[in-house]
Amino acid sequence: MSATGGCLCGAVTYTVSDKPTKTGACHCEMCRRWSGGVYMAIHYKEDEVTIKGGEHISRYKSSDWAERCFCNICGSNLFYHVTLDGPYKGNHHIGFGTLDDPKGIPLTSEIYVDKRPDGYAFAGELETMTEAEVIALFGSPE
Ligand SMILES: [Zn+2]
Ligand SMILES: [Zn+2]
Repeated sequence: MSATGGCLCGAVTYTVSDKPTKTGACHCEMCRRWSGGVYMAIHYKEDEVTIKGGEHISRYKSSDWAERCFCNICGSNLFYHVTLDGPYKGNHHIGFGTLDDPKGIPLTSEIYVDKRPDGYAFAGELETMTEAEVIALFGSPE
């Protein structure tokens, strides 16, 4: 079953091929600044995402790894899009909060957990990775 979402003003909408079953949070500095809080995302491959209103998407290349895409009318952050050649190219880390119906989807992991500010923490047993563990896995900073 597919799921849908979009930005605040509705100019950009998307459909993903399957309803998400898990969510990941990232506490890295780039995600913190970009989202203005904590960035939580659902992950899809390029061919699993259909976008309408793509002409309203602005793209900011935040690193050699990826660009961050947002609505150029309302400013909603939409997704982190991997541009680096390799096995993850084209992956969309879509902002969890942009889903039309975010109910019933558990938060299952948090990365850059050693960078998490003191003011908040998530409940429950989550998979965690530190910055060093993320870099060891992916070979380069986000
Ligand atoms: Zn918008
Ligand atoms: Zn991040």
